[in-house]
Amino acid sequence: MSGGAHTAVATVAGHEVCTDHWIGGERVPSPERFDVITPIDGSVIAEVAAGGEREADLAVRAAHEAAAGWAGLGAAGRAALLHRLADLIDANVERLAAVECADMAMLLESLRLRVIHRAAANFRNYADLAVAYEERDWHSKGTWNRVQRMPAGPAAVITPWNAPFMLSTWKVAPALAAGCPVVLKPAEWSPLSCSLLAELTRAAGFPPGVFNVLQGVGEQVGAALVGHPLLRRISFTGSPETARHIGVAAARNLVPFTGELGGKGPLIVFDDADLDAAAAKAAGQYDDAGQVCLAGTRLLVQESIREPFLERFHAAVDRHVLGDPREPETTVSPLIHPDHLERVDGFVQRAIAAGDTLVRGGRRLEGLLYEPTLFEPRSNDAEIVQREVFGPVLTFQTFADEEEAVALANSTQYGLSGIVYTGSMGRADRVGRAVRAGIVWVNTFLVRDLTAPFGGVGISGIGREGGNYALDFYSDLKTLQVLDGSVR
Ligand code: NAD
Repeated sequence: MSGGAHTAVATVAGHEVCTDHWIGGERVPSPERFDVITPIDGSVIAEVAAGGEREADLAVRAAHEAAAGWAGLGAAGRAALLHRLADLIDANVERLAAVECADMAMLLESLRLRVIHRAAANFRNYADLAVAYEERDWHSKGTWNRVQRMPAGPAAVITPWNAPFMLSTWKVAPALAAGCPVVLKPAEWSPLSCSLLAELTRAAGFPPGVFNVLQGVGEQVGAALVGHPLLRRISFTGSPETARHIGVAAARNLVPFTGELGGKGPLIVFDDADLDAAAAKAAGQYDDAGQVCLAGTRLLVQESIREPFLERFHAAVDRHVLGDPREPETTVSPLIHPDHLERVDGFVQRAIAAGDTLVRGGRRLEGLLYEPTLFEPRSNDAEIVQREVFGPVLTFQTFADEEEAVALANSTQYGLSGIVYTGSMGRADRVGRAVRAGIVWVNTFLVRDLTAPFGGVGISGIGREGGNYALDFYSDLKTLQVLDGSVR
């Protein structure tokens, strides 16, 4: 952390990014700054404003003041602005992708072709859903009843460092569509693309205070934000450990919160599956250097196909190209930060020391690159099986039958996602039902319908977002009851 002189604008991958907060429609500096490095070569690319209580208070007050006007626009009025924002995101794909790639080392091609457009789709989708949202009417006990949706008020959105732009918009879009002004706190390891989002909201014509960005360290500005008494909702994506702190702050002010948290998903392969497809998808769990909450990091493979599966899996992993995320041939990029590399390597070294079998990988490479790593654990209780690594580290275990597969799948405290490979509809249905998770994919992965509920069970999440579930979360539902015959 540094004080004094600072640069409020950084040039990142050739693009200018403002590194101050965005509060009430204005850039606001802080006396303290923190360094942001690029995982590509470890150099400092920006000095970003480090907010605290003062900035959190300013931002929540700005959102509070904007709340009545934003609610008063109605769903259709807000939708027009959200569509304009979506168009601006699409028009700025190259800039957003380049900055995000420099900031967190997600593959540039993937950002340009898929991820940034998906962020625009979040705004379009929720704009349309909010307009189409139907208030329920019915007759009962001599009265006419209607459920009405009231915007809840200022919402805090706190996001993690992986896929920062897409994950932030996934939460910001429903909050804004439902009528809640937002204070977004992106993660300190990758805060830059969210600053560009602020700029785009200005270009789209959003009223001041409707969208605010607070920069800074989670334990400081994040904690000040979630403890603010004027907040009416908190939506968090990150680790279960941080969610516990946020839950305590939410409880103090009796503010509803949702948490989309960590995962340790199973990828289950049955002997009736398309083995080539299953092995390729298993090797694909190293994409984004395994920094994906939904990844199937525990490979559970039927004993009878152990060898043919492993042969195909190793061949597919051998095809990965580790390197610079800006190069189109790269498939596995560097880890986000030196501290995260230490964390990932710590898991690997402890697993080796504990007697888990290192099947492949396990080494640091140049810079922040880490070899795709596979362990065959000594037991299902091993730390490497039970705890989220959030890096390119998978485990391999075999099972005899469906019952054992489900028991292993459900044997951690997590429950975010599951992946099943099978050629049988009956098995897809049985195992899909039995796996405890917010989503189970069969013979596919990461395909998401934006109207579906999203969240986790166990320590993987609390509450649901996605589709109308998110609009309900950002709303206060009210029942209006009118005595029959009393009005004309
Ligand atoms: P993290 O919990 O360390 O931080 C997440 C955010 O919380 C950051 O913005 C951070 O600054 C902020 N924060 C930290 N302490 C805070 C506090 N006391 N009060 C308020 N805010 C605080 O998580 P991370 O390391 O950034 O992200 C990785 C985790 O996120 C993994 O567990 C991963 O699985 C999870 N994740 C989940 C999903 C999902 O949809 N379920 C998606 C992506 C990532």
